[in-house]
Amino acid sequence: MSKPTRASKFLLNLLLLAIFTAACAHRPNAYETGEAFREGTKVLSAALPFKPGTAFRVRQGPFDESSHSEPGAEYAWDLDVPLLTTVHAVADGRVFHIFQPPNAMGGCDPKYAAQAWNVLVEHKDGSVSQYTHVEARVKENQAVARGDVIGVTTWRGYMCRPHLHFMAWSSKDELYASPRRKSIPVRFTGVPDGLLLTGKLYQVP
Ligand SMILES: [Zn+2]
Repeated sequence: MSKPTRASKFLLNLLLLAIFTAACAHRPNAYETGEAFREGTKVLSAALPFKPGTAFRVRQGPFDESSHSEPGAEYAWDLDVPLLTTVHAVADGRVFHIFQPPNAMGGCDPKYAAQAWNVLVEHKDGSVSQYTHVEARVKENQAVARGDVIGVTTWRGYMCRPHLHFMAWSSKDELYASPRRKSIPVRFTGVPDGLLLTGKLYQVP
């Protein structure tokens, strides 16, 4: 029997390397490639939802296969910050809904999901920003400017660690009336390419 030639060994190694690389490579999702921002798509331009100097890590970002993987909720962020961190409006608008069931609890169990406290702000283009696990410091119908404090992070809802859950919707109708409601992509100011990416650490400039 003949021994494998040097050339055939080389080819085999190359093949194994190719298979290994294909299996491990992170395929950029539509948010990372920018495809999510293609023309015709409603996009919210947002300030970061914390005060300048605040450091936070993105625990989950868009398209993560995790607690945000249900259809329509692809554009959602879990931003790790301590409890009682002030939360700021990401754009000018009006507080149109505060959801704070008084006996709500929180914990690391999906059974708490419906008990999350929320503040919802409607913006001038009709889009809506949603701030979850937040105790309001504003009233319904109050006008807010970008950067105004609207609440503080709290321990209400499905949460395994203190964080702000943030997402945006194209309109109130989409949020409340559409059976297949879809979140919309968000471009954040003060971060590279306007993207908040999973696992990365940021500081509000
Ligand atoms: Zn979340």
